[in-house]
Amino acid sequence: MAFEGLTNRLQSVFGKLRGKGKVSEEDVNEAMREVRLALLEADVNFKVVKEFIAKVKERAVGLEVMKSFTPGMVIIDIVNKELTELMGGTQSKLAKSNKPPTVILMAGLQGAGKTTSSGKLAKMLLKSNNRPLLVACDIYRPAAIKQLQVLGEQIGVPVFSLGDQTSPVDIARSGLQHAKDNGNDYVIIDTAGRLHIDEALMDELRQIHEATKPDEVLLVVDAMTGQEAVNVAESFHSQLELTGVVLTKLDGDTRGGAALSVKAVTGCPIKFAATGEKIEPLEPFHPERMASRILG
Ligand code: GDP
Repeated sequence: MAFEGLTNRLQSVFGKLRGKGKVSEEDVNEAMREVRLALLEADVNFKVVKEFIAKVKERAVGLEVMKSFTPGMVIIDIVNKELTELMGGTQSKLAKSNKPPTVILMAGLQGAGKTTSSGKLAKMLLKSNNRPLLVACDIYRPAAIKQLQVLGEQIGVPVFSLGDQTSPVDIARSGLQHAKDNGNDYVIIDTAGRLHIDEALMDELRQIHEATKPDEVLLVVDAMTGQEAVNVAESFHSQLELTGVVLTKLDGDTRGGAALSVKAVTGCPIKFAATGEKIEPLEPFHPERMASRILG
């Protein structure tokens, strides 16, 4: 289960504080040292950890935790609030164009879960009575188009494709026109991923961006890859202005580093959290719920 290690570690730190009627400054410092280690072990970016601990300490001093009758509870509350802030504070909603269709560009490395997440996003939109169109722009990975078509059929969402002999930029442009002609209010463009970030991938994404002027550029990252997911997000963001992140595979035993660092490092909010291989509606990411879940 995701975050298990982190949750166990934090519970043990807070358990010690809770048992005390009063805590000394040394108790708080000791607790913070342990929280710091727990976060580093959960693969949270070290700069993020440093700032986080500094903020918690600052708040703790301001609130005079030491004089409180329930110092443990006060500290947990502070950590909870700071964890929530770290992940963006409030839920960041999907953009909606006032001139439909709303265009959503899905980007990411191969295997991150782009195609699966595109399907989940379409299902979520369908559930709220929208008429999404999926556009198959991954012409390189064998069977990628077929995968999207099968998925579209399964959930009852149309898939626009021009096969694998047309350039992705032309497919995206035609797909957008098709949506306009057919009254689709959301266009989800599934693009190609590579094993590594390279110029060709970025160039193609930039061209699709130019041709379709998306309202959302969502980077799909695999939470299981930890800090690597954050590095990927940073490089994509430097080359293509991202509007949000879809964090996938949160059902796996991820240590949580990506979820806790990506917003702080890139400034890009996590908009959705994905779990499971089945095509269920994508879940909006709620920082406060995730913080509570981490604290157990
Ligand atoms: P793409 O190359 O980025 O389009 O990745 P795919 O959507 O094809 O997904 C790659 C693999 O990850 C597939 O086996 C998916 O079933 C699996 N996958 C995608 N999202 C999730 C998720 O949230 N949880 C789990 N456990 N598996 C996922």
